[in-house]
Amino acid sequence: MRILVVEDEEQLADAIESMLKKEQYFVDKVFDGQDGYDYAMSGIYDLILLDIMLPKMDGLTVLKKLRDNGISTPIMLLTARTEIDDKIKGLDLGADDYLTKPFNKGELLARVRALTRRKGEIPTNELEFKDIKLNQSSYELICGDNSIKLGGKEFKIMQMLMYNTKNIISKDEFIEKIWGYDSEAEYNSIEVYVSFLRKKLNAIHSTVQIKASRGIGYYLQ
Ligand code: CA
Repeated sequence: MRILVVEDEEQLADAIESMLKKEQYFVDKVFDGQDGYDYAMSGIYDLILLDIMLPKMDGLTVLKKLRDNGISTPIMLLTARTEIDDKIKGLDLGADDYLTKPFNKGELLARVRALTRRKGEIPTNELEFKDIKLNQSSYELICGDNSIKLGGKEFKIMQMLMYNTKNIISKDEFIEKIWGYDSEAEYNSIEVYVSFLRKKLNAIHSTVQIKASRGIGYYLQ
């Protein structure tokens, strides 16, 4: 389970992070709305905790843009007591829940469990697209009776593509998510792994293709 925390009060963000990490969730945290939006667009999260008052882009705008772009990740808004209108607006815009600050640890964790459980009810550890399945435990890519194991980086690239089949994923997004912001990875690293993945798709006789889009990024077809 991977959770994105978008909260500009860094102490609060740190506190939420440590509460969640203790419960074995993976946590990414960012401190403004623009980063929140960019991270969330990867589609790799099981839940997003989203503050409303944020620099660069407010939480409700982030929420609306994500839903407009087909991101259906459960979102819990973090609101101040005075922001009652925003709560209602947020729920109308497609938030799944909200939590009023200040909140206690038990309340946060109970709601996180409820929201991640709802998504987890789909009893599968596999992602599916057309004739392929990706097993997220064994890192196997499966097409009919054929399967092939993916390396760590290949798996992450494939996972991002399969989570997010409606959008082109840019090379920058791959690099940020897989190698991290301050890595030395360059575009041709992505190209190399994509070429490995294409060979593996051929090897299992899948009709799925990884298409390149005008130097911007990649998508599945
Ligand atoms: Ca705030």
